[in-house]
Amino acid sequence: MSAFNSHNFNGQKVLIRVDFNVPLNDSLEITDDSRMKAAVPTIKKVIADGGKVILMSHFGRPKDGPEEKYSLKHLINHLSVLLDGATVLFANDCIGEQANLTASMLRNGEVLLLENLRFHKEEEKGDEGFAKKLAELGDVWVNDAFGTAHRAHASTAVIGKFFEANKRFFGLLMEGEVASAEKVLHKAEKPFVAIIGGAKVSDKILIIENLLERATDIIIGGGMAFTFMKAQGGTIGNSLCENDRLDIALKILKLAKEKSVNIHLPSDSVIADKFSADAETSVAPSNSIPDGWMGLDIGSHACHQFSNVIKASKTILWNGPMGVFEMPKFQHGTKTIAIAVAEATQNGAFSLVGGGDSVAAVNQFGFADQVSYVSTGGGAMLEYFEGKTLPGIAAVKG
Ligand code: AMP
Repeated sequence: MSAFNSHNFNGQKVLIRVDFNVPLNDSLEITDDSRMKAAVPTIKKVIADGGKVILMSHFGRPKDGPEEKYSLKHLINHLSVLLDGATVLFANDCIGEQANLTASMLRNGEVLLLENLRFHKEEEKGDEGFAKKLAELGDVWVNDAFGTAHRAHASTAVIGKFFEANKRFFGLLMEGEVASAEKVLHKAEKPFVAIIGGAKVSDKILIIENLLERATDIIIGGGMAFTFMKAQGGTIGNSLCENDRLDIALKILKLAKEKSVNIHLPSDSVIADKFSADAETSVAPSNSIPDGWMGLDIGSHACHQFSNVIKASKTILWNGPMGVFEMPKFQHGTKTIAIAVAEATQNGAFSLVGGGDSVAAVNQFGFADQVSYVSTGGGAMLEYFEGKTLPGIAAVKG
């Protein structure tokens, strides 16, 4: 693998795997272009060098071949705007004669967008023949699609074998994601707190187990905290609970004790009489919730308790909200945690927010620019923190 920034791509055909899987409305207009914007620095660097940019991406989940609503042609105009008016050509198929011809005729600084990779079922199957055809389009391969780095697809991983080590690169987005994750996983300054929230323990077991090897403190909030409460003999009313994970919760608590990792569970919860934005609310100890009520956010003592741990930390990883932050009555906990993370960051801590809903929360509350890094790759970041090797990273590193 070579360093992207120190390479000059002048005159080279640069095949870049991006994640342009943006949402469209019924009129096929882009409703959130963040994924496209995230790839712009990489594309602009190649254009500035005088390279020839060839972009490939998946888009939606087409079932059986081409489908109009999943065509990447809907992105051409906006892509050109994001690239300050650069010429964006389009190939109706990501492989084949037209793609080959257009790629070979590209002039320096021009951009070619290939049609949706997933119009070929070989993409998701990781088919080697298909990967080879894609590889033939470029002199070098740049992987900038962190969001799909956990998939061993043709364009994200298998393609790597058709490029020599000095012709494979991480794009700038991918480089940033990998560097941030590595910093937290392998170079964390202590105290290191992991804040884990969200709905289900089952989704987060592997992450927690991996973090038990690394963190000094683990804060557990959100719906998953109630499985831990019940496992220890608490009463939790109608709160979320995975009865088949009670043993795992106890095992995690035991392991944490053995490894001297402090587990922090919310002492109190905001409780509701129904799962609804207009529910009646009250407050109760998290291990003593009355029948007919459910915990939907952490309470004020827990906010205080968690904030203190966060503010004393030098490294912070945050995955998953503390409550049902989508409803105003239950967003106070998540917001308070966001404020504490922002404050700790301002005081010199390194903070990484990764994984779907906590990213949505920091964006919603306007804290995205007050933390050190917000990851764009939900599933990929989760798997990274579970300690797995991501195929899209391994394929570049070799
Ligand atoms: P996850 O995708 O596992 O991170 O879960 C995120 C979802 O968990 C969000 O939609 C939250 O509304 C939900 N959530 C957080 N806390 C609770 C809770 N106490 N009860 C039910 N759902 C919750």
